[in-house]
Amino acid sequence: MEPLMSVRNLKMHYPIKKVDSFTKYDLLKAVDGINFDLFEGETLGLVGESGCGKSTTRKLLLYVEEPTEGKVYYQGSNIFEMSKAELKKFRRNVQTVYQDPYSSLNPKWKVVKLVSEPMVIHKIGNRKSRAEKVKELMSLVGLREEYADSFSHEFSGGQRQRISIARALALDPRVIIADEPVSALDVSIQAQVINLFEDLKKQLNLTYIFISHDLNVIKHISDRVAVMYLGKIVELAGKDELFEDAKHPYTKALIRSIPIPDPEMDAKLASLEGEIPSPINPPTGCAFHPRCPEVMDICRRVSPEILPVAKSHEVSCHLYTNDSMA
Ligand code: SF4
Repeated sequence: MEPLMSVRNLKMHYPIKKVDSFTKYDLLKAVDGINFDLFEGETLGLVGESGCGKSTTRKLLLYVEEPTEGKVYYQGSNIFEMSKAELKKFRRNVQTVYQDPYSSLNPKWKVVKLVSEPMVIHKIGNRKSRAEKVKELMSLVGLREEYADSFSHEFSGGQRQRISIARALALDPRVIIADEPVSALDVSIQAQVINLFEDLKKQLNLTYIFISHDLNVIKHISDRVAVMYLGKIVELAGKDELFEDAKHPYTKALIRSIPIPDPEMDAKLASLEGEIPSPINPPTGCAFHPRCPEVMDICRRVSPEILPVAKSHEVSCHLYTNDSMA
């Protein structure tokens, strides 16, 4: 099956001005050569600690920023080389839901204006047909139609996120890139919004890229999972394979650190030691080596490539390359 989207050697390096020194700039390698495919109808989870490059990846996939290097193909065409008309079509087809439904929705606008704005921008329908579509979308996301004339500040966090989802669906997209869409919500509301994402996916035949730092959320919603560390994908596998047979020491540590609701288990929980290093001048070799319990000499010198270890399971670690013998 041909992928709906493909990401090839995508990099985003930001020059950061140095205060002292002869070279004027350091490079912040927010995204550093990632590759993956997105297949129609799947949910690809993108997980990692804060600062690992997940949100920069979202910006590049939506062409909010121009990458330093690399390509993002949508239905075979590189989005960074699309004509204006092609890009407009791409933007209709690939929509996003943001983390914070408080700052992403203008509190002075009524719901009808918030949800219909994408249709106005894309010159779709007239006032009446757009108002009808808004009602349809509201019922689709579980909000009462009469709320269309209320202001977004009158709603709870969960309801606001439903409004954001309705807005993202206004152009009948094929792909939704959701960036931490439940992390600003109470835990009790998170499950409802995740269930809504799942129902909508089935109903509308959507494809998701679901970005989260929360492995529980990723485990619940994803079909495949890409684990990011310091701008790189270090492991990519089907959800069950990743959670049952993780290979990369970072993925293993993340999985071990998922909270278990049993006090007797606390002593057995292994947490990841140390902070994520700065993406400015990251560690040499494998960027995870200062925190890795299985570090070898080669890890400090040579950056491991991401390679297949099984069908549809890729890992970037010297434990799984012949280089470890070097
Ligand atoms: Fe650990 Fe080395 Fe693998 Fe990096 S390459 S994760 S340091 S074993």
